[in-house]
Amino acid sequence: MTVLTPDLVDQVRENAEFNASACMNCGVCTAICPLGSEHLPRGIFRYVLLGMKEELLKQQETVFSCLLCKMCEVNCPAGVHIVENVRTLRHYFDRQAFGL
Ligand code: SF4
Ligand code: SF4
Repeated sequence: MTVLTPDLVDQVRENAEFNASACMNCGVCTAICPLGSEHLPRGIFRYVLLGMKEELLKQQETVFSCLLCKMCEVNCPAGVHIVENVRTLRHYFDRQAFGL
């Protein structure tokens, strides 16, 4: 059973930018990403938006493997600030790991 965390996006965002609400789930970013992960970046963003914390926490290694190359971002038709979102997610994982 999947337990949802309704305020997950607020937990992730804290005082930083995390805005994927314009995402249309088109898949361009995932298709273009040189890492070839099925989760990066759109799947991970959906986990946040849907409050799927358990699934998100499994993606820590993937989030830290992002090259911050912006290939996805410059091709995103919705103008999502993907790299800034990835940075925000890294801070979130740091807080989870170190209790900050
Ligand atoms: S390219 Fe942009 S709109 Fe499309 S899935 Fe990725 S983040 Fe969402
Ligand atoms: S910035 Fe990260 S998610 Fe986007 S294409 Fe580059 S490696 Fe993939």
